[in-house]
Amino acid sequence: MNALQTTGSQANADVSARYRNNFLQEIEANVEGGEWVRMCMQCGVCAGSCPLGDHWEHTPQKIFMMIRAGKREEVLKSDAMWMCTSCYNCIVRCPRKLPITHIMHGIAAYSSRLGLAPKMQPTRDFSQLFWKNATRTGRVNELKLTIGLYFGDGVVAGIKKGWGMRNVALGLIKAGRLNPFELFGGHKCKDQKGIAAMLRKAREIEDRKQVTS
Ligand code: SF4
Ligand code: SF4
Repeated sequence: MNALQTTGSQANADVSARYRNNFLQEIEANVEGGEWVRMCMQCGVCAGSCPLGDHWEHTPQKIFMMIRAGKREEVLKSDAMWMCTSCYNCIVRCPRKLPITHIMHGIAAYSSRLGLAPKMQPTRDFSQLFWKNATRTGRVNELKLTIGLYFGDGVVAGIKKGWGMRNVALGLIKAGRLNPFELFGGHKCKDQKGIAAMLRKAREIEDRKQVTS
């Protein structure tokens, strides 16, 4: 178990004890938009509007019902929240105007903080890769991001994926949309110290929220 997992499992044990038998209250206190969950009237419009339809393990409607039913483990360990594509269909149509998309992402982030998010979940893996890449210099280095994505499953798998996409890569280079020299540095934000300070501040605010919630 690594340090992050240890921190996550300790945090999970702490909040689980604090909100024992009241998962709705836990979500309201710790998840962005969580205070809206009790407003859901289970009409099913979001479930019917979601383009993922039957591919969900649990639709937003079901997730909100499970939260109110206290199904903590099932919700936090589900990969449903990670499947949301942020198309906003549900938000536009919800008769109660719940910020469904934000709540789904909020629960995903919360489950990740507690170390309960499903492992090897492709959307989660990509989010983490993207975040590390973007926050390093303040600009996304697409070449490094792609390489990180391709080689995440090992060298052989990476080479196979890269080879399979060689024509696309060559086309992008010819069109001036991909610069192979980005591998040795690439674009950076001018005020990298400013970006780092901003992210540190955001982290401080998040941590403070967690301590006082
Ligand atoms: S559309 Fe809104 S009120 Fe209806 S089930 Fe979905 S979240 Fe609940
Ligand atoms: S925003 Fe997410 S939950 Fe809402 S309809 Fe789109 S994919 Fe489904």
